[in-house]
Amino acid sequence: MIEKIDHIGIAVANLEEAMKPYLDFLFVKKEGVEIEEVSDQKVKVAVFHVGPNRIELLQSTTPDGTIAKFIEKKGEGIHHLAIRVKDIEKALAELKGKGIKLIDEKPRLGAGGAKIAFLHPKSTGGILIELTERKED
Ligand code: ZN
Repeated sequence: MIEKIDHIGIAVANLEEAMKPYLDFLFVKKEGVEIEEVSDQKVKVAVFHVGPNRIELLQSTTPDGTIAKFIEKKGEGIHHLAIRVKDIEKALAELKGKGIKLIDEKPRLGAGGAKIAFLHPKSTGGILIELTERKED
């Protein structure tokens, strides 16, 4: 059911500024970075492809968005870990059956057209876990 770590989501205050060190240490050209706005989650995302994995920098598009609130409380940094699954609806149903608390009972639309759903950190050792189902790679 689990395929791999899909991406690491990092909360940043300013996407343009935050991208700079990543371009350097990941040896990526700016044209190679996918930038996308995900209105459902009120974020602007910069996707860095790192071999078979991804790092997503997330900037809030509104002052009351979850990323803005996270930065207010904890500062910029790692926000969530995303795990790719084959069938997200099935995974959510199984996890619910195991008593895992879900933030999203049903998947929503994430960056790159992925289906995503968050699990509650209370059930996952304090880490915000996102399940991701996507077609590509
Ligand atoms: Zn994510």
